[in-house]
Amino acid sequence: MEDDSAVMTAPNMTVDGDRLWSSLEQMAKVGPGIAGGCNRQTLTDADAEGRTLFAGWCRDAGMSMTLDRMGNMFMRHEGTQPDLDPIYIGSHLDTQPTGGKYDGVLGVLAGLEVVRAIRDMGLRTRRPIVVVNWTNEEGTRFAPSMLASGVFTGMHSEEYANSRVDAEGKTFGDELDRIGWRGDEAPGDRRIHAMFEYHIEQGPILEAENKQIGVVTHGQGLWWLEVTLTGKDAHTGSTPMSMRVNAGLGMARITEAVHRIAMAHQPDAVGAVGQANLYPNSRNVIPGKAVFTIDFRTPDAAKLASMRSQLEVEAAEIAKELGLGLQIEVTGHYEPVTFDPTLVGKVRDAADRLGLSHMDIVSGAGHDACWISKVAPTAMIFCPCVDGLSHNEAEEISPEWAKAGCDVLLHAVLDAAEIVT
Ligand SMILES: [Zn+2]
Repeated sequence: MEDDSAVMTAPNMTVDGDRLWSSLEQMAKVGPGIAGGCNRQTLTDADAEGRTLFAGWCRDAGMSMTLDRMGNMFMRHEGTQPDLDPIYIGSHLDTQPTGGKYDGVLGVLAGLEVVRAIRDMGLRTRRPIVVVNWTNEEGTRFAPSMLASGVFTGMHSEEYANSRVDAEGKTFGDELDRIGWRGDEAPGDRRIHAMFEYHIEQGPILEAENKQIGVVTHGQGLWWLEVTLTGKDAHTGSTPMSMRVNAGLGMARITEAVHRIAMAHQPDAVGAVGQANLYPNSRNVIPGKAVFTIDFRTPDAAKLASMRSQLEVEAAEIAKELGLGLQIEVTGHYEPVTFDPTLVGKVRDAADRLGLSHMDIVSGAGHDACWISKVAPTAMIFCPCVDGLSHNEAEEISPEWAKAGCDVLLHAVLDAAEIVT
């Protein structure tokens, strides 16, 4: 033990916003899109190039690198007590095929900027700080999303990840080996004191509410259901009303029920039928079959379960009344995430200390932090984004927003990592 004593963070401790912005701009040139954004899909040559650029910056900032067998990059800044569990800052450098410059990238490069700023200010922390680039968050080339953080937290096996196949028949495992970014460390073999993920909101709320910082309290859980109703194809003109078995009518009734059930679970619950197909889909045939999807989401686990069970009861009643066959298949499910209240408090305190406007918010999208929250205390910080636009090359944030959230990240990390004199 050193005889150092912990000190408080001060409002004049800030990151270099220009340096952060310039790093974001430089990274955006790697795997450029066709409309001003990025196409740096996971395990492509562009991904490898982006990793090399990031690793070089980290080396220049005095950090050491460890790779695990999923290609997750762990960049370590040493603490005064190296055997203490580190503070992690992580997100992803991979993008959608027509992705923006900030989704994921902001969180990784802000982590680097936090370390750069700590060094510039001559500060030391008891705990080490580890900045992580999680492999294949997007899931666009190799489904599912958040794949390598999922392996890290034991949600998926390595074999499962390595066998994922892209549209050209190439596997995740072969492509990771090909680009040369597979390491030796067993995924998940790490102790994490706390993890922070800084990410763009990917929604319109912060901008509309004119807030600089989103303090993320929860991640939404979801049920994706696919419903198949079976009736009987028949002529629309010559079949008496009493003799119809109309799958289209059943779909309409269930669609209405989905809306009503979501409305009955307010606030913070949503539900919709998003994709619908009628068969044979002809203007003069009563539909004999309907296949449609239901998407229910809420950050409240009890409400999520209640919405699904209520839907199943009502759908069965509707099918029985109309004489339809009913099949409901689960095609996706995430339990809601509650981020660690102590860490969330550190984020909120940091925003207050820095005089930044903030509000509590729920994440509507999945993030690596959602998986990490299963194994370690985790919190997220949201940055506003223009018109809520994301997964789009036109995704935009301002340098001032990027810096504000990075300052909050710096303060929350310093608080958790314990500054020493
Ligand atoms: Zn993302």
